[in-house]
Amino acid sequence: MANSTALIVTHAGAPFRLESINRTPLQAREVLVRLKATGVCHTDNAVRTGKLPGAFPLVLGHEGAGVVEEVGSAVKSVKIGDHVLLSYAFCRTCGTCKQGKPYACVEMERRNFSCSRPDGSCPLQWEGLDVHGCFFGQSSFANPAIVQESSCVPVDPSLPLEILAPLGCGIQTGSGTVFNIIKPVENDTRSLVVFGLGGVGCAAIMAASYLAKQNPGVLDVIIAVDLKAERLELARQLGATHSINGQEHQSDLIEEIRRITGGVGADAAVDCTGALSIINDMIVALAPCGRAVTVGAPPLTSKMSIEVFPFINGCKSYRGSHQGDSVARKFLPFLADLYQKGEFPIDQMERSYPVGAVNEAVQDMLDGKVIKPVLIW
Ligand SMILES: [Zn+2]
Ligand SMILES: [Zn+2]
Repeated sequence: MANSTALIVTHAGAPFRLESINRTPLQAREVLVRLKATGVCHTDNAVRTGKLPGAFPLVLGHEGAGVVEEVGSAVKSVKIGDHVLLSYAFCRTCGTCKQGKPYACVEMERRNFSCSRPDGSCPLQWEGLDVHGCFFGQSSFANPAIVQESSCVPVDPSLPLEILAPLGCGIQTGSGTVFNIIKPVENDTRSLVVFGLGGVGCAAIMAASYLAKQNPGVLDVIIAVDLKAERLELARQLGATHSINGQEHQSDLIEEIRRITGGVGADAAVDCTGALSIINDMIVALAPCGRAVTVGAPPLTSKMSIEVFPFINGCKSYRGSHQGDSVARKFLPFLADLYQKGEFPIDQMERSYPVGAVNEAVQDMLDGKVIKPVLIW
Protein backbone atom coordinates (compact mmCIF):
# COMPACT_ATOMS: atom_id res chain seq x y z
CA MET A 1 0.00 0.00 0.00
CA ALA A 2 1.20 3.47 -0.80
CA ASN A 3 -0.38 6.83 -0.26
CA SER A 4 -2.09 9.23 -2.61
CA THR A 5 -3.76 12.54 -1.91
CA ALA A 6 -7.34 12.44 -3.08
CA LEU A 7 -10.59 14.36 -3.30
CA ILE A 8 -12.94 11.78 -1.93
CA VAL A 9 -16.76 11.80 -2.04
CA THR A 10 -18.06 9.71 0.86
CA HIS A 11 -21.68 9.47 -0.30
CA ALA A 12 -23.98 10.91 -2.95
CA GLY A 13 -24.39 14.65 -2.36
CA ALA A 14 -21.38 15.00 -0.02
CA PRO A 15 -18.80 17.68 -0.85
CA PHE A 16 -15.30 16.73 -2.01
CA ARG A 17 -12.90 16.09 0.92
CA LEU A 18 -9.15 16.33 0.54
CA GLU A 19 -7.74 13.22 2.28
CA SER A 20 -4.74 10.95 2.28
CA ILE A 21 -5.82 7.54 0.96
CA ASN A 22 -4.15 4.21 0.22
CA ARG A 23 -3.77 2.82 -3.25
CA THR A 24 -3.48 -0.86 -4.14
CA PRO A 25 -0.58 -2.17 -6.29
CA LEU A 26 -0.73 -1.48 -10.03
CA GLN A 27 -2.31 -4.14 -12.20
CA ALA A 28 -0.53 -5.30 -15.37
CA ARG A 29 -2.12 -2.72 -17.70
CA GLU A 30 -2.14 0.20 -15.30
CA VAL A 31 0.08 3.25 -15.06
CA LEU A 32 0.83 5.46 -12.08
CA VAL A 33 0.65 9.13 -13.07
CA ARG A 34 1.97 12.01 -10.96
CA LEU A 35 -0.55 14.70 -11.88
CA LYS A 36 0.17 18.35 -12.57
CA ALA A 37 -3.45 19.34 -13.10
CA THR A 38 -6.98 17.98 -13.43
CA GLY A 39 -9.88 19.76 -15.13
CA VAL A 40 -13.31 19.79 -13.52
CA CYS A 41 -16.25 18.74 -15.71
CA HIS A 42 -20.02 18.84 -15.13
CA THR A 43 -20.02 15.04 -15.23
CA ASP A 44 -17.89 14.91 -12.07
CA ASN A 45 -20.48 16.95 -10.27
CA ALA A 46 -23.42 15.01 -11.72
CA VAL A 47 -21.98 11.78 -10.30
CA ARG A 48 -21.07 13.44 -7.00
CA THR A 49 -24.61 14.67 -6.50
CA GLY A 50 -26.19 11.37 -7.59
CA LYS A 51 -27.74 12.75 -10.81
CA LEU A 52 -25.69 10.19 -12.69
CA PRO A 53 -25.04 6.78 -11.12
CA GLY A 54 -21.93 6.25 -9.00
CA ALA A 55 -20.63 3.96 -6.25
CA PHE A 56 -19.40 5.43 -2.97
CA PRO A 57 -17.04 6.25 -1.38
CA LEU A 58 -15.64 7.42 -4.69
CA VAL A 59 -12.77 9.33 -6.25
CA LEU A 60 -13.83 11.12 -9.45
CA GLY A 61 -11.78 13.26 -11.85
CA HIS A 62 -11.42 12.58 -15.55
CA GLU A 63 -9.38 15.33 -17.17
CA GLY A 64 -5.94 14.64 -15.73
CA ALA A 65 -2.49 15.54 -17.03
CA GLY A 66 0.86 14.58 -15.56
CA VAL A 67 4.01 12.49 -15.76
CA VAL A 68 4.26 8.69 -15.74
CA GLU A 69 5.89 7.52 -12.52
CA GLU A 70 5.48 3.74 -12.69
CA VAL A 71 4.09 1.23 -15.20
CA GLY A 72 2.41 -2.17 -14.80
CA SER A 73 4.13 -5.31 -16.10
CA ALA A 74 2.23 -5.48 -19.42
CA VAL A 75 2.25 -1.77 -20.31
CA LYS A 76 3.81 -1.12 -23.71
CA SER A 77 2.59 2.23 -25.00
CA VAL A 78 3.98 4.58 -22.32
CA LYS A 79 7.11 4.59 -20.19
CA ILE A 80 8.33 6.21 -16.98
CA GLY A 81 8.91 9.93 -17.49
CA ASP A 82 6.43 10.33 -20.37
CA HIS A 83 4.17 13.38 -20.17
CA VAL A 84 0.58 12.27 -20.63
CA LEU A 85 -2.88 13.75 -21.08
CA LEU A 86 -5.59 11.43 -19.79
CA SER A 87 -8.78 10.54 -21.63
CA TYR A 88 -11.38 7.76 -21.76
CA ALA A 89 -10.52 4.04 -21.38
CA PHE A 90 -11.36 1.33 -23.91
CA CYS A 91 -10.81 -2.41 -24.31
CA ARG A 92 -8.78 -2.60 -27.58
CA THR A 93 -10.26 -5.99 -28.44
CA CYS A 94 -13.98 -5.48 -29.25
CA GLY A 95 -15.26 -5.04 -32.80
CA THR A 96 -15.52 -1.24 -32.66
CA CYS A 97 -12.09 -0.85 -31.02
CA LYS A 98 -10.62 -3.01 -33.79
CA GLN A 99 -12.34 -0.82 -36.39
CA GLY A 100 -10.44 2.16 -34.98
CA LYS A 101 -13.44 3.58 -33.09
CA PRO A 102 -12.44 3.22 -29.43
CA TYR A 103 -14.81 6.09 -28.54
CA ALA A 104 -17.66 3.62 -29.17
CA CYS A 105 -16.02 0.64 -27.41
CA VAL A 106 -18.67 -1.91 -26.40
CA GLU A 107 -17.19 -1.79 -22.89
CA MET A 108 -17.38 2.01 -22.66
CA GLU A 109 -19.84 1.95 -19.78
CA ARG A 110 -18.02 -0.64 -17.69
CA ARG A 111 -14.52 0.75 -18.25
CA ASN A 112 -15.38 4.40 -17.69
CA PHE A 113 -18.48 4.74 -15.52
CA SER A 114 -18.73 1.58 -13.37
CA CYS A 115 -16.40 3.23 -10.80
CA SER A 116 -14.37 0.01 -10.58
CA ARG A 117 -11.49 -1.57 -12.44
CA PRO A 118 -12.40 -3.77 -15.43
CA ASP A 119 -12.15 -6.82 -13.10
CA GLY A 120 -14.60 -5.20 -10.67
CA SER A 121 -12.07 -4.43 -7.92
CA CYS A 122 -11.54 -1.07 -6.18
CA PRO A 123 -8.13 0.57 -6.71
CA LEU A 124 -8.17 2.65 -3.50
CA GLN A 125 -8.81 2.30 0.24
CA TRP A 126 -9.53 4.79 3.01
CA GLU A 127 -10.19 4.22 6.71
CA GLY A 128 -10.58 0.49 6.13
CA LEU A 129 -13.14 0.93 3.34
CA ASP A 130 -12.78 0.06 -0.33
CA VAL A 131 -12.91 3.29 -2.33
CA HIS A 132 -14.29 3.23 -5.85
CA GLY A 133 -12.22 4.71 -8.63
CA CYS A 134 -11.11 4.02 -12.18
CA PHE A 135 -13.62 6.71 -13.22
CA PHE A 136 -13.03 7.32 -16.94
CA GLY A 137 -10.12 4.89 -16.49
CA GLN A 138 -8.25 7.41 -14.34
CA SER A 139 -9.95 8.91 -11.24
CA SER A 140 -7.56 11.82 -11.57
CA PHE A 141 -8.85 13.54 -8.42
CA ALA A 142 -6.22 11.31 -6.74
CA ASN A 143 -2.52 12.07 -7.01
CA PRO A 144 -0.64 10.03 -7.98
CA ALA A 145 -3.46 8.39 -9.92
CA ILE A 146 -3.84 4.77 -10.99
CA VAL A 147 -4.66 5.06 -14.70
CA GLN A 148 -5.60 2.46 -17.32
CA GLU A 149 -2.97 2.30 -20.04
CA SER A 150 -5.61 2.96 -22.72
CA SER A 151 -6.44 6.31 -21.09
CA CYS A 152 -2.88 7.63 -21.47
CA VAL A 153 -2.00 9.91 -24.37
CA PRO A 154 1.72 10.73 -24.53
CA VAL A 155 2.45 14.32 -25.52
CA ASP A 156 5.50 16.51 -26.09
CA PRO A 157 7.10 17.31 -22.70
CA SER A 158 7.34 21.01 -23.57
CA LEU A 159 3.54 21.40 -23.56
CA PRO A 160 1.87 23.22 -20.61
CA LEU A 161 -0.04 20.42 -18.84
CA GLU A 162 -1.84 22.86 -16.50
CA ILE A 163 -3.58 24.40 -19.51
CA LEU A 164 -4.04 21.29 -21.62
CA ALA A 165 -5.42 18.97 -18.89
CA PRO A 166 -9.09 19.48 -19.91
CA LEU A 167 -8.46 18.39 -23.51
CA GLY A 168 -9.23 14.74 -22.73
CA CYS A 169 -12.99 15.03 -22.16
CA GLY A 170 -15.10 18.15 -22.68
CA ILE A 171 -12.84 19.97 -25.08
CA GLN A 172 -12.22 16.86 -27.14
CA THR A 173 -15.98 16.25 -27.23
CA GLY A 174 -16.93 19.72 -28.45
CA SER A 175 -14.14 20.21 -30.95
CA GLY A 176 -14.24 16.56 -32.09
CA THR A 177 -17.92 16.92 -32.95
CA VAL A 178 -17.03 19.70 -35.38
CA PHE A 179 -13.75 18.26 -36.74
CA ASN A 180 -14.70 14.57 -36.89
CA ILE A 181 -18.47 14.44 -37.34
CA ILE A 182 -19.74 17.65 -38.90
CA LYS A 183 -16.57 17.93 -41.03
CA PRO A 184 -17.80 21.07 -42.78
CA VAL A 185 -17.65 21.02 -46.58
CA GLU A 186 -17.48 24.13 -48.77
CA ASN A 187 -20.87 25.43 -49.94
CA ASP A 188 -22.58 22.60 -48.10
CA THR A 189 -21.96 23.49 -44.47
CA ARG A 190 -22.27 27.24 -44.24
CA SER A 191 -23.93 27.51 -40.86
CA LEU A 192 -23.60 25.87 -37.46
CA VAL A 193 -25.57 26.38 -34.26
CA VAL A 194 -24.10 25.44 -30.90
CA PHE A 195 -26.55 25.14 -28.00
CA GLY A 196 -25.04 25.51 -24.52
CA LEU A 197 -21.73 27.26 -23.90
CA GLY A 198 -19.95 25.27 -21.23
CA GLY A 199 -16.53 23.81 -22.00
CA VAL A 200 -17.97 21.49 -24.67
CA GLY A 201 -19.91 24.19 -26.49
CA CYS A 202 -17.05 26.71 -26.36
CA ALA A 203 -14.69 24.07 -27.76
CA ALA A 204 -17.14 23.48 -30.63
CA ILE A 205 -17.19 27.23 -31.36
CA MET A 206 -13.37 27.37 -31.33
CA ALA A 207 -13.11 24.42 -33.72
CA ALA A 208 -15.73 25.93 -36.03
CA SER A 209 -14.01 29.30 -36.01
CA TYR A 210 -10.66 27.69 -36.84
CA LEU A 211 -12.16 25.76 -39.79
CA ALA A 212 -13.98 28.85 -41.05
CA LYS A 213 -10.70 30.78 -41.12
CA GLN A 214 -8.87 27.96 -42.92
CA ASN A 215 -11.57 27.25 -45.51
CA PRO A 216 -13.41 30.04 -47.31
CA GLY A 217 -17.03 29.12 -47.99
CA VAL A 218 -17.30 27.07 -44.82
CA LEU A 219 -19.19 28.05 -41.67
CA ASP A 220 -19.53 31.78 -42.34
CA VAL A 221 -22.36 31.67 -39.82
CA ILE A 222 -21.58 30.31 -36.34
CA ILE A 223 -24.47 30.85 -33.94
CA ALA A 224 -23.99 30.49 -30.19
CA VAL A 225 -27.05 29.91 -27.99
CA ASP A 226 -27.03 30.18 -24.19
CA LEU A 227 -29.01 31.67 -21.32
CA LYS A 228 -26.13 33.76 -19.96
CA ALA A 229 -24.98 37.02 -21.55
CA GLU A 230 -21.34 36.64 -20.35
CA ARG A 231 -21.06 33.27 -22.01
CA LEU A 232 -22.45 34.64 -25.26
CA GLU A 233 -19.88 37.42 -25.07
CA LEU A 234 -17.08 34.86 -24.63
CA ALA A 235 -18.44 32.81 -27.55
CA ARG A 236 -18.20 35.95 -29.71
CA GLN A 237 -14.57 36.36 -28.68
CA LEU A 238 -13.93 32.71 -29.54
CA GLY A 239 -15.34 33.15 -33.04
CA ALA A 240 -19.15 32.96 -32.98
CA THR A 241 -20.58 35.32 -35.61
CA HIS A 242 -24.04 35.49 -34.00
CA SER A 243 -25.42 34.89 -30.55
CA ILE A 244 -28.92 34.19 -29.28
CA ASN A 245 -29.90 34.64 -25.66
CA GLY A 246 -32.31 31.80 -24.93
CA GLN A 247 -33.97 33.86 -22.18
CA GLU A 248 -35.01 36.46 -24.71
CA HIS A 249 -36.02 33.95 -27.37
CA GLN A 250 -37.80 31.28 -25.37
CA SER A 251 -40.77 31.18 -27.69
CA ASP A 252 -39.11 31.98 -31.01
CA LEU A 253 -35.71 30.30 -30.89
CA ILE A 254 -36.33 28.35 -34.09
CA GLU A 255 -37.56 31.45 -35.93
CA GLU A 256 -34.50 33.38 -34.77
CA ILE A 257 -32.15 30.69 -36.13
CA ARG A 258 -34.07 30.70 -39.42
CA ARG A 259 -33.90 34.50 -39.56
CA ILE A 260 -30.11 34.50 -39.11
CA THR A 261 -29.65 31.76 -41.72
CA GLY A 262 -31.64 33.55 -44.41
CA GLY A 263 -34.83 31.62 -43.76
CA VAL A 264 -33.48 28.14 -44.45
CA GLY A 265 -32.28 26.92 -41.07
CA ALA A 266 -28.89 25.62 -39.97
CA ASP A 267 -26.76 23.22 -41.98
CA ALA A 268 -25.35 21.73 -38.80
CA ALA A 269 -26.10 21.89 -35.09
CA VAL A 270 -24.66 20.59 -31.86
CA ASP A 271 -26.54 20.30 -28.59
CA CYS A 272 -24.39 20.47 -25.48
CA THR A 273 -27.25 21.14 -23.04
CA GLY A 274 -28.95 17.75 -22.88
CA ALA A 275 -32.29 19.58 -22.51
CA LEU A 276 -34.94 17.65 -24.45
CA SER A 277 -36.84 20.75 -25.60
CA ILE A 278 -33.61 22.21 -27.00
CA ILE A 279 -32.77 18.96 -28.81
CA ASN A 280 -36.21 19.10 -30.39
CA ASP A 281 -35.77 22.73 -31.42
CA MET A 282 -32.33 21.89 -32.80
CA ILE A 283 -33.78 19.27 -35.14
CA VAL A 284 -36.66 21.47 -36.25
CA ALA A 285 -34.28 24.38 -36.92
CA LEU A 286 -32.15 22.38 -39.37
CA ALA A 287 -31.97 23.32 -43.05
CA PRO A 288 -32.80 20.66 -45.64
CA CYS A 289 -30.09 17.94 -45.42
CA GLY A 290 -29.01 19.47 -42.11
CA ARG A 291 -27.22 17.39 -39.52
CA ALA A 292 -27.70 17.57 -35.78
CA VAL A 293 -25.51 15.97 -33.13
CA THR A 294 -26.31 15.35 -29.48
CA VAL A 295 -23.41 15.40 -27.04
CA GLY A 296 -25.07 16.88 -23.94
CA ALA A 297 -26.37 14.14 -21.65
CA PRO A 298 -30.03 14.35 -20.57
CA PRO A 299 -31.09 12.45 -17.44
CA LEU A 300 -30.69 8.68 -17.87
CA THR A 301 -33.59 6.90 -19.63
CA SER A 302 -34.82 10.18 -21.19
CA LYS A 303 -36.96 9.74 -24.27
CA MET A 304 -37.78 12.20 -26.99
CA SER A 305 -40.39 12.47 -29.73
CA ILE A 306 -40.02 14.31 -32.99
CA GLU A 307 -42.37 15.00 -35.86
CA VAL A 308 -41.24 12.46 -38.43
CA PHE A 309 -42.61 13.82 -41.71
CA PRO A 310 -40.54 17.05 -41.93
CA PHE A 311 -37.58 14.95 -40.87
CA ILE A 312 -38.09 12.69 -43.92
CA ASN A 313 -38.95 15.43 -46.37
CA GLY A 314 -36.06 17.56 -45.20
CA CYS A 315 -33.59 14.64 -45.39
CA LYS A 316 -32.34 15.61 -41.96
CA SER A 317 -30.10 13.49 -39.79
CA TYR A 318 -29.67 13.32 -36.05
CA ARG A 319 -27.10 11.30 -34.18
CA GLY A 320 -25.38 11.05 -30.84
CA SER A 321 -21.69 11.08 -30.15
CA HIS A 322 -19.41 10.16 -27.30
CA GLN A 323 -16.21 12.23 -27.10
CA GLY A 324 -16.85 13.75 -30.55
CA ASP A 325 -15.76 10.51 -32.25
CA SER A 326 -12.22 11.32 -31.16
CA VAL A 327 -9.37 8.84 -31.09
CA ALA A 328 -7.61 10.57 -28.22
CA ARG A 329 -4.10 9.36 -29.11
CA LYS A 330 -4.28 11.19 -32.41
CA PHE A 331 -6.69 13.98 -31.66
CA LEU A 332 -5.28 15.39 -28.40
CA PRO A 333 -1.78 16.03 -29.85
CA PHE A 334 -3.50 17.74 -32.81
CA LEU A 335 -5.49 20.03 -30.46
CA ALA A 336 -2.37 20.71 -28.35
CA ASP A 337 -0.55 21.76 -31.50
CA LEU A 338 -3.39 24.11 -32.48
CA TYR A 339 -3.22 25.62 -28.98
CA GLN A 340 0.53 26.18 -29.32
CA LYS A 341 -0.06 27.95 -32.64
CA GLY A 342 -2.59 30.28 -31.04
CA GLU A 343 -5.48 28.78 -33.04
CA PHE A 344 -7.31 27.12 -30.16
CA PRO A 345 -7.29 29.49 -27.17
CA ILE A 346 -8.68 27.20 -24.47
CA ASP A 347 -6.92 29.26 -21.78
CA GLN A 348 -9.56 31.96 -22.39
CA MET A 349 -12.21 29.82 -20.74
CA GLU A 350 -10.09 28.34 -17.95
CA ARG A 351 -9.40 29.40 -14.39
CA SER A 352 -6.98 27.54 -12.13
CA TYR A 353 -7.65 26.66 -8.49
CA PRO A 354 -5.55 24.89 -5.87
CA VAL A 355 -6.83 21.33 -5.39
CA GLY A 356 -8.12 22.18 -1.91
CA ALA A 357 -10.50 24.76 -3.43
CA VAL A 358 -12.37 22.16 -5.48
CA ASN A 359 -15.77 22.84 -3.91
CA GLU A 360 -15.44 26.54 -4.67
CA ALA A 361 -14.34 25.67 -8.22
CA VAL A 362 -17.43 23.51 -8.73
CA GLN A 363 -19.72 26.22 -7.34
CA ASP A 364 -18.15 28.84 -9.63
CA MET A 365 -18.73 26.49 -12.58
CA LEU A 366 -22.37 25.96 -11.60
CA ASP A 367 -22.87 29.71 -11.10
CA GLY A 368 -21.46 30.36 -14.56
CA LYS A 369 -18.55 32.42 -13.14
CA VAL A 370 -16.04 30.13 -14.81
CA ILE A 371 -16.46 27.76 -17.73
CA LYS A 372 -13.60 25.37 -17.11
CA PRO A 373 -12.01 25.17 -13.66
CA VAL A 374 -8.62 23.45 -13.57
CA LEU A 375 -7.27 22.09 -10.29
CA ILE A 376 -3.52 22.48 -9.83
CA TRP A 377 -1.76 19.81 -7.73
ZN1 LIG B 1 -13.55 -1.98 -27.12
ZN1 LIG C 1 -16.26 15.23 -18.82
